[in-house]
Amino acid sequence: MGVKISATPKEGRYLTFMYRQQIEEGRRVTTTILAKSFKVNPATVTEILQKLAEKKLVEYTRYYGAGLTERGVVKAQKLLRKHRILEVLFVKFLRYDAEKACEEASKIDYYCSEDLINAICRTYEHPNRCPCNKIIFSDPKCRGQQ
Ligand SMILES: [Zn+2]
Ligand SMILES: [Zn+2]
Repeated sequence: MGVKISATPKEGRYLTFMYRQQIEEGRRVTTTILAKSFKVNPATVTEILQKLAEKKLVEYTRYYGAGLTERGVVKAQKLLRKHRILEVLFVKFLRYDAEKACEEASKIDYYCSEDLINAICRTYEHPNRCPCNKIIFSDPKCRGQQ
């Protein structure tokens, strides 16, 4: 923790997708699955995975697939925290439909600062589940600021 790891918004979406597949659902992440989910061709996926591997966020083996490294896991959890806290806001405050909240959160989660996310988190008393019952990872800084 504490290390600044930069990933582009697109790379961030790959990281969170991989986290959900690999860690939360225990499935192997292949180029084919990524290509299908992101509606791009396998060559594009390979390119992004190679970039993520250079940043040591992903371990990528051609023909086998890809897995998040420890750094990748930390980064994905940070992004998913933002995503899921935004979902809580949209559903609880705006009474927005959970599925649409997820869609909208995906468009902006990457751009929200940790500070903003923590402010929302405190407003809702540090929720640990998002509207679709996925874990919201806690941020020690958030609880420290109370
Ligand atoms: Zn979501
Ligand atoms: Zn919190």
